[in-house]
Amino acid sequence: MAGKALRGACEVMPSVSSHFRTDALVIGGGPAGAALAIHLARRGRSVEVVEKSTTAHHKVCGEFLSREAIAYLDELGLNIRAQGAVAVHGVRLAARNLIAECELPFPALSLTRRALDEALLTLAARAGAMVLRGRRVQSLQAAAPGWVASLADGGTRCAPAAFLATGKYDLAGHRRPSGRQNDLIALKMYFRVTPQQECSLRGWVELIFFRGGYAGLQLAENGEVNLCLLVRRKTFKSCRNQWRLLLEHLLGASDHLARRLEGAQPLLPKPLALSSIPYGLLIARPQSGLWRLGDQAAVIPSFSGDGISIALHSAHVAAEIYANGGAEMQLTGRLNAELKSPVHLAAAVSRLLVAAPGLAQMARLWPPLLRLLAAGTRIPPAALLKELRGLL
Ligand SMILES: Cc1cc2nc3c(=O)[nH]c(=O)nc-3n(C[C@H](O)[C@H](O)[C@H](O)COP(=O)(O)OP(=O)(O)OC[C@H]3O[C@@H](n4cnc5c(N)ncnc54)[C@H](O)[C@@H]3O)c2cc1C
Repeated sequence: MAGKALRGACEVMPSVSSHFRTDALVIGGGPAGAALAIHLARRGRSVEVVEKSTTAHHKVCGEFLSREAIAYLDELGLNIRAQGAVAVHGVRLAARNLIAECELPFPALSLTRRALDEALLTLAARAGAMVLRGRRVQSLQAAAPGWVASLADGGTRCAPAAFLATGKYDLAGHRRPSGRQNDLIALKMYFRVTPQQECSLRGWVELIFFRGGYAGLQLAENGEVNLCLLVRRKTFKSCRNQWRLLLEHLLGASDHLARRLEGAQPLLPKPLALSSIPYGLLIARPQSGLWRLGDQAAVIPSFSGDGISIALHSAHVAAEIYANGGAEMQLTGRLNAELKSPVHLAAAVSRLLVAAPGLAQMARLWPPLLRLLAAGTRIPPAALLKELRGLL
């Protein structure tokens, strides 16, 4: 019965030997979905990626690529340095003024998501995955022995295995539960700053703390400066939910940021925004049969700069388990065990810093703190795949 229903529902006619022409349906073509598609296609599986965006575009993200992310990208064969990625060697903390700076315990890079995500999707298509652009999945239903996805344009796709990689966006009927810090919204704007400020920023990621949130400032390729910030809903409301008033508030709260952005030109007509971020979330019990990866499995607070690493890591682990005939519960169990400590520590620190930004001063009083925090809020080295540890 279910097989018949599936056959009727699918755009794609079943092959003679099976109801399905596709082994795996990947919903969402961000870092998690695209990386999974590359792994599976290289293992000879037929994969379809459904991605709602039609072309390369900017996304809300600080665009800091940690050592683990770089190693996973290298391992996929993506040379992001050739895409113009900018080296980051140190982190600075600032509140009203500069508080502390230290060298990162690892080399990092900065690349816009417009460039990174597009390069990954291109690689997925080259590896043999079918990448469907400009098509949004509206709903996903279990229909034994597989899954049927209904698309906003009226089409359907089906496969025996479905991987949910919609990242920051929840799919109706498959919403993630709340995280440990749920009251932040994110805004992002690119600026062209003065040559002097660009020079001071080169090589550094700056974290700027203010009451009710924090911001990251970092140079990307082409000299664009990314200001990506998180702010409590009520702080934004007190700025009448207006970007201009919020920016004025930030510039008033931080002399450091005011210096950086003096004479800066905004490069987007309006900021990119995102709400309802379940920071600190870690999925403990998957819906039977549905694989969740990337931000759909775990959401680490942004200051850690490890979300993309987690997305790439989860894709690698999912592909390994799936290719070995394992089940999605194994992926959830493994990600839970590996990521509980960094995700929960980062959520606790993020809540503290948003409530009491003055605590960032502790980094000046006790300099090893920054390094310890950087190490404690990322994928533990033991969890990284053996072949990857060699690249670090
Ligand atoms: C403010 C902020 C700053 C951050 N800064 C950093 C940082 O500096 N470094 C870092 O490593 N991480 C950072 N992160 C985290 C990082 O952005 C995420 O962890 C990462 O993007 C997760 O990748 P993903 O593939 O799971 O999801 P996404 O990157 O969100 O990709 C999901 C994809 O699915 C598509 N999609 C969604 N819904 C549908 C649908 N229904 N149908 C079809 N397609 C769909 C979307 O278009 C998108 O392309 C930050 C996050 C935030 C919010």
